[in-house]
Amino acid sequence: MPIPPWQTGTVKKIIEETHNTRRFFIQFDDIECFHFRAGQFITLDLPIGDTPSKRWRSYSIASAPTGTNVIELLIVLLEGGAGSTYIFNEIKEGSQFIIRGPLGLFTLPEMIDKDLYLICTGTGVAPFRSMLFEMLNHHKPHQEIFLIYGCRTKKDLLYYEELKSLETKLTGFSYMPTLSREKWEGRTGYVHSIYQEIIESKKSQCSSGQPPSPATFYLCGWKFMIIDARQKILELGFDKKDIRLELYG
Ligand SMILES: Cc1cc2nc3c(=O)[nH]c(=O)nc-3n(C[C@H](O)[C@H](O)[C@H](O)COP(=O)(O)OP(=O)(O)OC[C@H]3O[C@@H](n4cnc5c(N)ncnc54)[C@H](O)[C@@H]3O)c2cc1C
Repeated sequence: MPIPPWQTGTVKKIIEETHNTRRFFIQFDDIECFHFRAGQFITLDLPIGDTPSKRWRSYSIASAPTGTNVIELLIVLLEGGAGSTYIFNEIKEGSQFIIRGPLGLFTLPEMIDKDLYLICTGTGVAPFRSMLFEMLNHHKPHQEIFLIYGCRTKKDLLYYEELKSLETKLTGFSYMPTLSREKWEGRTGYVHSIYQEIIESKKSQCSSGQPPSPATFYLCGWKFMIIDARQKILELGFDKKDIRLELYG
């Protein structure tokens, strides 16, 4: 696939999603429709250095493809982070970004014939939101879908109400948020015990010696969670080819 050209986009709207995370709605200036696949990302060229490695920052597209020229990004402010600090301090409604995309292969298969485990922390939920709304909007046939989402406290939950209500709209979808640093009415702890328990329970329903029910695991976020999850999923009896990764850093 050829690398897409750089384009400009104007920030049309900014929503404070949480105390440290914002939603940016960006409209491409020169095209009617921005074609992409749910799960892909774009790269921003920010004026924060003289080399590409200093200037470029990638962000998953958090909105589903809808045939328009507007996309949504979900960006967390990283303390001391050059790119996110620039975006939070300098980018207002009406600002322009230099953007390249869509990029990446972290996308759904044509035929979703296995259970999907979408496992993420923090803004790693962005590509999954895009995929889930893609499945909903296009009535894509699918098996069970588990969105296992980890963050620290209740005030860090992203798209909480929307994802909770998606359970009533998307058949077979379970939204399973968990908090690692606060007790609440929902699950607590890290993401790992959640998918481990689901799989162990599915295994116990099969006769002994049978492989676990077929599944694809999509892991998105920061490397520590992803490295741990990958190892644990292999230990549960799945294969490397059942695991897809999007590493944020
Ligand atoms: C394909 C892809 C998609 C991405 N999508 C998103 C997205 O949708 N939303 C989003 O907010 N970010 C996303 N990122 C991360 C983003 O590109 C930047 O790395 C992030 O905004 C931090 O940039 P910075 O310049 O502020 O910090 P930097 O100065 O670049 O970061 C310094 C270091 O901190 C690490 N780091 C960065 N952020 C965090 C964090 N939150 N927690 C722990 N360690 C961190 C980095 O790996 C780096 O080593 C994505 C990254 C990739 C590669």
